[in-house]
Amino acid sequence: MNLTNIGVVKDVLSRHGFNFSKGLGQNFIIDSDICPRIAEYGNAAQGWGILEIGTGVGVLTKELAMRADKVSAVEIDKRLIPVLAETLGEFNNIKIYNEDVMKANLHKIISEDFSGLRTAICANLPYYITSPIIMLLLESRLPVESITVMVQKEAAQRLCAKVGSRESGAITVGVNYYGTVTSLFDVSRESFMPSPNVDSAVIRIDIDKQPRLAPNEEKFFFKMVKAGFSQRRKTLANGLTSLLGIAKNDVYSALRDLEISESVRMEALDMEQLIALSLRLTKEEN
Ligand code: SAM
Repeated sequence: MNLTNIGVVKDVLSRHGFNFSKGLGQNFIIDSDICPRIAEYGNAAQGWGILEIGTGVGVLTKELAMRADKVSAVEIDKRLIPVLAETLGEFNNIKIYNEDVMKANLHKIISEDFSGLRTAICANLPYYITSPIIMLLLESRLPVESITVMVQKEAAQRLCAKVGSRESGAITVGVNYYGTVTSLFDVSRESFMPSPNVDSAVIRIDIDKQPRLAPNEEKFFFKMVKAGFSQRRKTLANGLTSLLGIAKNDVYSALRDLEISESVRMEALDMEQLIALSLRLTKEEN
């Protein structure tokens, strides 16, 4: 079944009485060039198991299943399950979980479904919940080598910004802490049904094998980063003092030791400076 043919997709959806839910971020890809490229950049190949989030009618799922050994996909909308049984019926290497990705046991899915395979995540993410999903996938420390996702263009710019630049945010630091982010290609709003009000872009995060910090240090690092960026107009010292309750003088003395200006804002610090500062301030907090 050609899942990028609008007539075919409309027909299967109407036969199942399906109408699009805006609230679930349902914009399905109808451009035949996009999914093969996401699958190829996303490591869908022999010897790999791919976890997909949000199948829609299965247009990306199908491209993943044609290349990888196994595909497991989590889709929240139960109305799509009978649709997928029809659109993906010819494949015997796809497993669909009718669950909310934020609540699903992804460790269990990966260990049960992908034993002996290298593992990656691919998705055209629902835009209402892009950052929480990406941070959940990273913070859960899933045994995956890469995360390749389509997101809103503005979100992609923030994810791919340089840590320490004005364009960076807590999510920029988050993804760069866990791995290396690459911007892959842009996708026009016309490539979707229904067409959203924004353009999109595909990015890949290649996950580092070794964590940079121990678990308790990591916890404080993210607490500090979230606090600093939630008050990004304030100086770092003011933000951290009010939100983390660390004495201002302790922040000043940490900054002096690291040869960073006392009036610095968090967005100006690069990854090494952020890590050094958090290691220094963890001691003050304890
Ligand atoms: N992969 C399809 C495509 O590219 O055409 C659909 C992408 S659409 C942007 C996002 C999909 O994610 C929808 O099918 C939606 O129902 C699903 N979704 C939304 N929130 C979800 C959640 N919390 N957990 C799992 N799936 C979700």
